[in-house]
Amino acid sequence: MPKQSGLHKNVAITRQNERIIRFLLSERVPESGSLLKASNPWELLVAVILSAQCTDERVNSVTPALFARLPTAEATAQATQEELEELIRKVGLYRNKAAAVLGAARRITDVYGGEVPSSLDELLTLPGVGRKTANVVLFGAFGRNEGLAVDTHVGRIACRLGLCDSRDPARAEKILTNLFPREEWGNVNHRMVRFGREVCKARNPLCSSCGAASFCPKHGVALKQRR
Ligand code: SF4
Repeated sequence: MPKQSGLHKNVAITRQNERIIRFLLSERVPESGSLLKASNPWELLVAVILSAQCTDERVNSVTPALFARLPTAEATAQATQEELEELIRKVGLYRNKAAAVLGAARRITDVYGGEVPSSLDELLTLPGVGRKTANVVLFGAFGRNEGLAVDTHVGRIACRLGLCDSRDPARAEKILTNLFPREEWGNVNHRMVRFGREVCKARNPLCSSCGAASFCPKHGVALKQRR
Protein backbone atom coordinates (compact mmCIF):
# COMPACT_ATOMS: atom_id res chain seq x y z
CA MET A 1 0.00 0.00 0.00
CA PRO A 2 1.34 3.47 -0.81
CA LYS A 3 2.00 5.80 2.10
CA GLN A 4 -1.00 7.94 3.02
CA SER A 5 0.93 10.79 4.63
CA GLY A 6 0.95 14.11 2.79
CA LEU A 7 -2.59 13.83 1.43
CA HIS A 8 -5.11 16.50 2.25
CA LYS A 9 -7.71 15.14 4.64
CA ASN A 10 -10.69 17.30 3.64
CA VAL A 11 -10.81 17.09 -0.14
CA ALA A 12 -12.01 14.36 -2.46
CA ILE A 13 -8.95 13.67 -4.58
CA THR A 14 -9.00 12.03 -8.00
CA ARG A 15 -6.64 9.19 -8.73
CA GLN A 16 -4.68 11.43 -11.11
CA ASN A 17 -4.31 14.19 -8.52
CA GLU A 18 -3.29 11.62 -5.93
CA ARG A 19 -0.46 10.52 -8.25
CA ILE A 20 0.63 14.15 -8.65
CA ILE A 21 0.54 14.82 -4.91
CA ARG A 22 2.57 11.73 -4.12
CA PHE A 23 5.05 12.59 -6.86
CA LEU A 24 5.56 16.20 -5.72
CA LEU A 25 6.08 15.07 -2.12
CA SER A 26 8.43 12.21 -3.03
CA GLU A 27 12.20 12.11 -3.13
CA ARG A 28 11.95 12.33 -6.95
CA VAL A 29 11.25 16.05 -6.41
CA PRO A 30 13.84 17.02 -3.80
CA GLU A 31 13.32 19.87 -1.39
CA SER A 32 16.17 22.37 -1.52
CA GLY A 33 15.06 25.45 0.37
CA SER A 34 15.40 28.96 -0.97
CA LEU A 35 18.55 29.83 -2.88
CA LEU A 36 18.27 33.49 -1.91
CA LYS A 37 20.85 34.44 0.71
CA ALA A 38 19.29 36.14 3.73
CA SER A 39 19.99 35.97 7.44
CA ASN A 40 16.89 37.66 8.86
CA PRO A 41 13.30 38.56 7.83
CA TRP A 42 14.27 42.01 6.50
CA GLU A 43 17.01 40.60 4.27
CA LEU A 44 14.67 37.89 2.99
CA LEU A 45 11.94 40.42 2.22
CA VAL A 46 14.37 42.61 0.27
CA ALA A 47 15.87 39.62 -1.58
CA VAL A 48 12.42 38.37 -2.62
CA ILE A 49 11.37 41.83 -3.85
CA LEU A 50 14.60 42.02 -5.89
CA SER A 51 14.11 38.52 -7.31
CA ALA A 52 11.08 39.39 -9.46
CA GLN A 53 11.99 38.57 -13.09
CA CYS A 54 15.62 38.11 -12.02
CA THR A 55 17.73 35.09 -11.14
CA ASP A 56 18.56 34.28 -7.52
CA GLU A 57 22.25 34.32 -8.47
CA ARG A 58 22.00 37.92 -9.68
CA VAL A 59 20.15 38.95 -6.51
CA ASN A 60 22.78 37.20 -4.36
CA SER A 61 25.48 39.14 -6.19
CA VAL A 62 24.12 42.53 -5.06
CA THR A 63 22.66 41.88 -1.59
CA PRO A 64 25.94 41.50 0.40
CA ALA A 65 27.00 45.08 -0.44
CA LEU A 66 23.43 46.35 -0.04
CA PHE A 67 23.04 44.81 3.44
CA ALA A 68 26.53 45.93 4.50
CA ARG A 69 25.61 49.52 3.62
CA LEU A 70 21.94 49.39 4.76
CA PRO A 71 21.59 46.51 7.24
CA THR A 72 18.09 47.17 8.62
CA ALA A 73 14.70 48.53 7.60
CA GLU A 74 15.38 51.63 9.71
CA ALA A 75 18.73 52.27 8.01
CA THR A 76 17.15 51.72 4.58
CA ALA A 77 14.30 54.11 5.39
CA GLN A 78 16.89 56.89 5.70
CA ALA A 79 18.39 56.22 2.26
CA THR A 80 17.48 58.08 -0.91
CA GLN A 81 15.96 56.51 -4.00
CA GLU A 82 19.18 57.31 -5.93
CA GLU A 83 21.36 55.65 -3.29
CA LEU A 84 19.28 52.46 -3.41
CA GLU A 85 19.23 52.44 -7.21
CA GLU A 86 23.01 52.61 -7.25
CA LEU A 87 23.27 49.67 -4.86
CA ILE A 88 20.92 47.39 -6.85
CA ARG A 89 21.64 48.63 -10.38
CA LYS A 90 22.69 45.14 -11.60
CA VAL A 91 19.19 43.79 -10.90
CA GLY A 92 16.53 44.18 -13.58
CA LEU A 93 13.77 46.76 -13.01
CA TYR A 94 16.01 48.34 -10.38
CA ARG A 95 14.19 51.68 -10.31
CA ASN A 96 10.83 50.14 -9.45
CA LYS A 97 12.45 47.74 -7.01
CA ALA A 98 14.37 50.54 -5.27
CA ALA A 99 11.08 52.39 -4.80
CA ALA A 100 9.41 49.25 -3.43
CA VAL A 101 12.25 48.49 -0.98
CA LEU A 102 12.31 52.11 0.18
CA GLY A 103 8.54 52.19 0.62
CA ALA A 104 8.57 48.90 2.54
CA ALA A 105 11.44 50.11 4.76
CA ARG A 106 9.61 53.34 5.61
CA ARG A 107 6.33 51.61 6.41
CA ILE A 108 8.05 48.91 8.51
CA THR A 109 9.91 51.65 10.41
CA ASP A 110 6.89 53.90 10.88
CA VAL A 111 4.18 51.30 11.54
CA TYR A 112 5.89 48.11 12.74
CA GLY A 113 8.74 49.44 14.87
CA GLY A 114 11.39 48.33 12.38
CA GLU A 115 10.36 44.65 12.44
CA VAL A 116 9.01 42.85 9.38
CA PRO A 117 5.40 41.90 10.23
CA SER A 118 4.61 38.21 10.41
CA SER A 119 1.04 38.05 9.11
CA LEU A 120 -0.18 37.88 5.53
CA ASP A 121 -2.54 40.84 5.88
CA GLU A 122 0.20 43.09 7.30
CA LEU A 123 2.78 42.04 4.73
CA LEU A 124 0.33 42.81 1.93
CA THR A 125 0.19 46.45 3.09
CA LEU A 126 3.89 46.91 2.22
CA PRO A 127 4.78 48.50 -1.14
CA GLY A 128 6.02 45.94 -3.65
CA VAL A 129 4.67 42.98 -1.68
CA GLY A 130 2.07 40.72 -3.30
CA ARG A 131 0.84 37.30 -2.22
CA LYS A 132 3.82 35.44 -3.68
CA THR A 133 6.40 37.59 -1.89
CA ALA A 134 4.39 37.55 1.34
CA ASN A 135 4.03 33.75 1.29
CA VAL A 136 7.75 33.23 0.63
CA VAL A 137 8.66 35.56 3.53
CA LEU A 138 6.11 34.02 5.89
CA PHE A 139 7.44 30.52 5.32
CA GLY A 140 11.13 31.36 4.94
CA ALA A 141 11.42 33.84 7.80
CA PHE A 142 8.71 32.72 10.23
CA GLY A 143 7.94 29.10 9.28
CA ARG A 144 4.30 30.04 8.68
CA ASN A 145 2.10 28.47 6.02
CA GLU A 146 -0.59 31.09 5.42
CA GLY A 147 -0.64 30.49 1.66
CA LEU A 148 1.35 28.77 -1.10
CA ALA A 149 3.65 31.01 -3.14
CA VAL A 150 2.93 30.65 -6.87
CA ASP A 151 5.76 31.89 -9.06
CA THR A 152 6.38 31.21 -12.74
CA HIS A 153 7.70 27.67 -12.05
CA VAL A 154 4.86 26.66 -9.76
CA GLY A 155 2.21 28.02 -12.16
CA ARG A 156 3.78 26.32 -15.20
CA ILE A 157 4.13 22.92 -13.53
CA ALA A 158 0.61 23.02 -12.10
CA CYS A 159 -0.71 23.66 -15.63
CA ARG A 160 1.41 20.99 -17.29
CA LEU A 161 0.38 18.40 -14.73
CA GLY A 162 -3.24 19.28 -15.42
CA LEU A 163 -4.02 20.77 -12.02
CA CYS A 164 -4.82 24.21 -13.46
CA ASP A 165 -6.24 25.40 -16.73
CA SER A 166 -4.69 28.87 -16.48
CA ARG A 167 -1.53 30.51 -15.11
CA ASP A 168 -3.54 32.82 -12.86
CA PRO A 169 -1.52 32.68 -9.61
CA ALA A 170 -4.54 33.21 -7.34
CA ARG A 171 -6.38 30.31 -8.99
CA ALA A 172 -3.31 28.07 -8.87
CA GLU A 173 -2.78 28.90 -5.20
CA LYS A 174 -6.39 28.00 -4.38
CA ILE A 175 -6.15 24.68 -6.21
CA LEU A 176 -2.79 23.74 -4.69
CA THR A 177 -3.76 24.71 -1.14
CA ASN A 178 -6.87 22.55 -1.49
CA LEU A 179 -4.81 19.59 -2.65
CA PHE A 180 -1.91 19.72 -0.20
CA PRO A 181 -2.13 19.79 3.59
CA ARG A 182 -1.26 23.14 5.09
CA GLU A 183 1.95 21.98 6.73
CA GLU A 184 3.34 21.12 3.26
CA TRP A 185 2.63 24.43 1.48
CA GLY A 186 6.05 26.04 1.88
CA ASN A 187 7.75 22.74 1.22
CA VAL A 188 5.71 22.18 -1.96
CA ASN A 189 6.69 25.64 -3.23
CA HIS A 190 10.39 24.87 -2.76
CA ARG A 191 10.06 21.47 -4.42
CA MET A 192 8.16 22.80 -7.42
CA VAL A 193 10.59 25.71 -7.92
CA ARG A 194 13.55 23.33 -7.96
CA PHE A 195 11.71 20.84 -10.19
CA GLY A 196 10.90 23.71 -12.57
CA ARG A 197 14.51 24.85 -12.71
CA GLU A 198 16.04 21.41 -13.14
CA VAL A 199 13.50 19.20 -14.93
CA CYS A 200 10.20 20.75 -16.03
CA LYS A 201 11.92 23.79 -17.54
CA ALA A 202 9.96 26.40 -19.45
CA ARG A 203 11.68 25.90 -22.84
CA ASN A 204 13.16 22.42 -22.78
CA PRO A 205 11.48 20.22 -20.18
CA LEU A 206 13.35 16.96 -19.63
CA CYS A 207 10.28 14.77 -20.17
CA SER A 208 12.24 11.64 -21.08
CA SER A 209 13.88 11.53 -17.66
CA CYS A 210 11.01 12.98 -15.63
CA GLY A 211 9.46 10.95 -12.82
CA ALA A 212 6.00 12.20 -13.83
CA ALA A 213 6.34 11.01 -17.45
CA SER A 214 3.91 8.09 -17.07
CA PHE A 215 0.98 10.24 -15.94
CA CYS A 216 1.75 13.82 -17.08
CA PRO A 217 -0.72 15.02 -19.75
CA LYS A 218 1.99 17.27 -21.21
CA HIS A 219 4.67 14.60 -21.53
CA GLY A 220 6.66 15.42 -24.66
CA VAL A 221 5.61 19.06 -24.65
CA ALA A 222 9.10 20.15 -25.77
CA LEU A 223 8.87 17.99 -28.92
CA LYS A 224 5.39 19.34 -29.67
CA GLN A 225 6.69 22.93 -29.28
CA ARG A 226 9.39 22.30 -31.89
CA ARG A 227 7.00 20.87 -34.51
S1 SF4 B 1 6.66 14.92 -18.23
FE1 SF4 B 1 7.56 16.81 -19.08
S2 SF4 B 1 5.94 18.36 -19.00
FE2 SF4 B 1 5.35 16.67 -17.62
S3 SF4 B 1 6.09 17.27 -15.58
FE3 SF4 B 1 7.68 16.02 -16.52
S4 SF4 B 1 9.08 17.47 -17.55
FE4 SF4 B 1 7.15 18.56 -17.09
